Amino acid sequence: MSSLIIDKVAKQFAGRTVLNDISLTLAPGEFLSLLGPSGCGKTTLLRIIAGFERADQGSVRLGDLDIGQLPANRRNIGMVFQAYSLFPNMTATENVRFGLRVRKVNVTEQQRRAAEMLELVGLAEHAGKYPHQLSGGQQQRVALARALAIQPALLLLDEPLSALDAQVRVQLREEIRRIQRETGITTVFVTHDQEEALSISDRVAVMYQGDLVQVGAPAEIYQDPAHDFVARFIGVSSVLAGQVVDSENGTILVNRMRLPASNARGIGRDENVQVYLRPEHVQLSVLNGTPQPEHTLVGTVQERVFLGATTRLTVQLDNGERLLADIPTGQIAELDIGCRVHAGWDLDAARVLVDRAS
Ligand code: ATP
Repeated sequence: MSSLIIDKVAKQFAGRTVLNDISLTLAPGEFLSLLGPSGCGKTTLLRIIAGFERADQGSVRLGDLDIGQLPANRRNIGMVFQAYSLFPNMTATENVRFGLRVRKVNVTEQQRRAAEMLELVGLAEHAGKYPHQLSGGQQQRVALARALAIQPALLLLDEPLSALDAQVRVQLREEIRRIQRETGITTVFVTHDQEEALSISDRVAVMYQGDLVQVGAPAEIYQDPAHDFVARFIGVSSVLAGQVVDSENGTILVNRMRLPASNARGIGRDENVQVYLRPEHVQLSVLNGTPQPEHTLVGTVQERVFLGATTRLTVQLDNGERLLADIPTGQIAELDIGCRVHAGWDLDAARVLVDRAS
């Protein structure tokens, strides 16, 4: 098991910065996802680690070895790409043996290891089949077996599930995680799918426009986004404009009402902020001609979308902003479209970030 240390890696293409001073360390055996929208630089970073691209600055170390100057085939890295990367004229076994043959491993050992790897990915009985005789998911399992057969120090996966349909994607991502745990191999998994990244990783590294904006455990990324991009990109949030009025107790002003936000502690008084609220943290009650309770916002239910156990309500606040609230479906009877409601949340529910545009 090896650590991976990426230190201040930078890359430009034609004078445009694609990677900006990226530093990231993976512990031996760690599974980390690089997550971000298309064009943020994930693949470029992966290609620099793999040796298909040279960094303009910075270093990449695998265990004790500085691999920055080594050609790709000397880095001892296994890689799985999006799809269609198998040799079409070779059987599953021959595909898996390929890397071993190149490394001049003896034939008996090639056969033994190919059989072991195909067993690991659950394809032992398909060993003699050609890629066109296998489903997309099975082909990616062969690609994974091929990458692991060389017993690499690091596994790189570049959107390996993106060409597969939804059900197979979920099955295979769980399978990849199982196999990674069994082999204990340090792994970097590139994806633009947040659910995928959050569900299988030890840690998630979120990239945005060439920057690494946050690295953390999935729950931390979801519950405590450190950057407005992360707050918008991960999960669903409503965003309201606010102002800090009490940075000691954590009180913000939203639409002229005082609302609780422990997260505002430490942010300067009068600072303009963006308030991010997860729909599951918003509480709604019908405003029955009664005065508006303290620490709430008032609005009108505009839309209801049935999600199963919960129903998502869109509330148009009186200042024109929109707030989403997930309410247990059994409790929505009174909350009809057009109904006047007041909305509130607990002290720890709102995530407050300084509004850098203001
Ligand atoms: P995607 O998920 O779409 O592959 P990504 O996050 O992996 O996106 P990259 O493929 O790393 O992003 O690309 C980052 C930026 O660098 C993009 O704007 C891309 O157009 C540009 N880029 C990538 N490779 C090259 C190249 N060889 N020459 C010029 N520009 C490139």
